Amino acid sequence: MLQQVNGHSSGSDARGEESFREDLQEFLGGEAPPLHQLDDLTKVNPVTLETVLRCLQARYTADTFYTNAGCTLVALNPFKPVPQLYSPELMREYHAAPQPQKLKPHIFTVGEQTYRNVKSLTEPVNQSIIVSGESGAGKTWTSRCLMKFYAVVAASPTSWDSHKIAERIEQRILNSNPVMEAFGNACTLRNNNSSRFGKFIQLQLNRAQQMTGAAVQTYLLEKTRVACQASSERNFHIFYQICKGASADERLQWHLPEGAAFSWLPNPERTLEEDCFEVTREAMLHLGIDTPTQNNVFKVLAGLLHLGNIRFADSEDEAQPCQLMDDAKCSVRTSASLLLLLEDPLLETLQIRTIRAGRQQQVFRKPCSRAECDTRRDCLAKLVYARLFDWLVSVINSSICADPSSWSTFIGLLDVYGFESFPHNSLEQLCINYANEKLQQHFVAHYLRAQQEEYAVEGLEWSFVNYQDNQACLDLIEGSPLSICSLINEECRLNRPSSAAQLQTRIASSLAGSPCLGHNKLSREPSFIVVHYAGPVQYHTAGLVEKNKDPIPPELTSLLQQSQDPLVKVLFPTDPEEKSQEEQGQSRAPVLTVVSKFKASLEQLLQVLHSTTPHYIRCIKPNGQGQAQTFLREEVLSQLEACGLVETIHISAAGFPIRVSHRNFVERYELLRRLCPRTSPGPHSPSPDEGRSASVSREALGS
Ligand code: ADP
Ligand code: MG
Repeated sequence: MLQQVNGHSSGSDARGEESFREDLQEFLGGEAPPLHQLDDLTKVNPVTLETVLRCLQARYTADTFYTNAGCTLVALNPFKPVPQLYSPELMREYHAAPQPQKLKPHIFTVGEQTYRNVKSLTEPVNQSIIVSGESGAGKTWTSRCLMKFYAVVAASPTSWDSHKIAERIEQRILNSNPVMEAFGNACTLRNNNSSRFGKFIQLQLNRAQQMTGAAVQTYLLEKTRVACQASSERNFHIFYQICKGASADERLQWHLPEGAAFSWLPNPERTLEEDCFEVTREAMLHLGIDTPTQNNVFKVLAGLLHLGNIRFADSEDEAQPCQLMDDAKCSVRTSASLLLLLEDPLLETLQIRTIRAGRQQQVFRKPCSRAECDTRRDCLAKLVYARLFDWLVSVINSSICADPSSWSTFIGLLDVYGFESFPHNSLEQLCINYANEKLQQHFVAHYLRAQQEEYAVEGLEWSFVNYQDNQACLDLIEGSPLSICSLINEECRLNRPSSAAQLQTRIASSLAGSPCLGHNKLSREPSFIVVHYAGPVQYHTAGLVEKNKDPIPPELTSLLQQSQDPLVKVLFPTDPEEKSQEEQGQSRAPVLTVVSKFKASLEQLLQVLHSTTPHYIRCIKPNGQGQAQTFLREEVLSQLEACGLVETIHISAAGFPIRVSHRNFVERYELLRRLCPRTSPGPHSPSPDEGRSASVSREALGS
């Protein structure tokens, strides 16, 4: 049994008696410290949303941004540079501390504890750190800092790459951040550097606890952003970086004259991120992406920008293809030249749909409406960008992933989009919130349930905290045979024309028994409500099925397969089997829906997480404007509610915050028994077996 003080497992029984007494003393009485000095929210009394909020506010005002909450670390976003908080010196201090949990709460405590957990156990156990919070709360910042922490404390003295650039592996792993952020982050209303994908990175350690490599897995890139940005939001940083940072020569090659207007590059006012072209290029180089390949990438991206300027006019005759707007002819030519496609096939693919019908799979050509042409153009860009992003991730992985024989354990860092609820929510939010439900369940299963069950096993009297089990919500979303996912998938499979209203009715009637399904009678658009653990969210059904299908007209893929560009060729290889099937008039294999793919990758992630010891960091945004020194109580309150923090603290605080093995307890306090001979063992007194523990509650000690 581990000895645990204030919710921190020390990992060994090595704590001296002196510090144990200090804890006891602190627990039994003495002056209550001022709120901002309470390092652990389990110590606020009573534990309510209000007291927790007051404590966090007091600490924020005192520039203290990290607070323990039992097994979780709460991280408040300072929204200002605090360099002394992340210096290598401080990293080393936490690393060298005999008991890092005795130092001020910090992400480095979590980092170090995690690192020691891998090291100290005879059987190596993989660890994971799950960083959660809403957009702009500081998740990516936190995971980046943890990566830097491990790059310092787990650096291998001899890890020089022998054949590529003399580059340390840790540095290469860190270099993956600016590259992935340039291609996967964008300026949104809630965060100037918002990650538009989820990321799980496994830092691989050898037996000597040195970092030998890493592997990245990404989730749900928001590829629609390439062709469609909400007002006041922007496209992925990399597009702005190219337009701003290209040299005169490159501008000529990529057809990006100074001041050129691109409809897919809205809000061109400057932000910090777009100044980073050199940083991105440098990092790509260190990851093994040479300059010609980089230039190829940027040329393709410029091709997409020109593609976005292609405009069609409405066709007066349905039998005729839509004509190009006057100024769009040049965009077709430029885009085709950059993507190394022929101009006519490019235009025709956008204008004309080919339909195979009948037993012989005869091919019919049907001119598209203007809206359909636009959709096909957007789809082409999304397709190229999504494949480019995946290619980039695989190149990064091949550059940083260690040989399986050179690592034995890993520390996983999970940085995924937090719970989302907007005025208009669609499939993207459903997937994101579904992922958050799964992670919440993982948290409940691993921590809350495990702790309560442990008390039950030890026969300790314990009033069970009524924690919110979100199984009913998960059943509603992903359950079998009927759930929201299965119903949306079925609509895709049946491939029948179904209206948004029909889908709403199907969900309402088929899943009426679920306590987590609701309906907004006042809503003018067809929708349904899911009562998530973090609050109810209304999802609109319009476009849900289509988004789930994510249809890619086969002509688009065929077109790109004809490109002469070396990179596009890699992104769209010709599959000989597929080609011969097509020639024989056979239809292609059914394509997986977005929901099915996401569900599968989520299950894989959870399988990995279940095989690790989890650690949690909850990032909190003190205000929505990104302002320093501004703590908006209402905004923080809703985040505290959303992550169920008070329940977690209740279990840690009302439970048994000091734990010591029975043998140690007897050895230490045997004297007391002799001094007080009238004290008799209680009915639940455990036998002094080595494996048993005596847990000391606040009440027991006080009585
Ligand atoms: P998320 O990934 O949760 O959406 P980010 O990690 O991108 O949020 O953080 C949003 C912004 O907040 C960052 O760009 C940075 O300006 C600021 N920020 C976050 N954490 C810190 C920190 N610990 N210190 C200083 N600024 C921070
Ligand atoms: Mg982020």
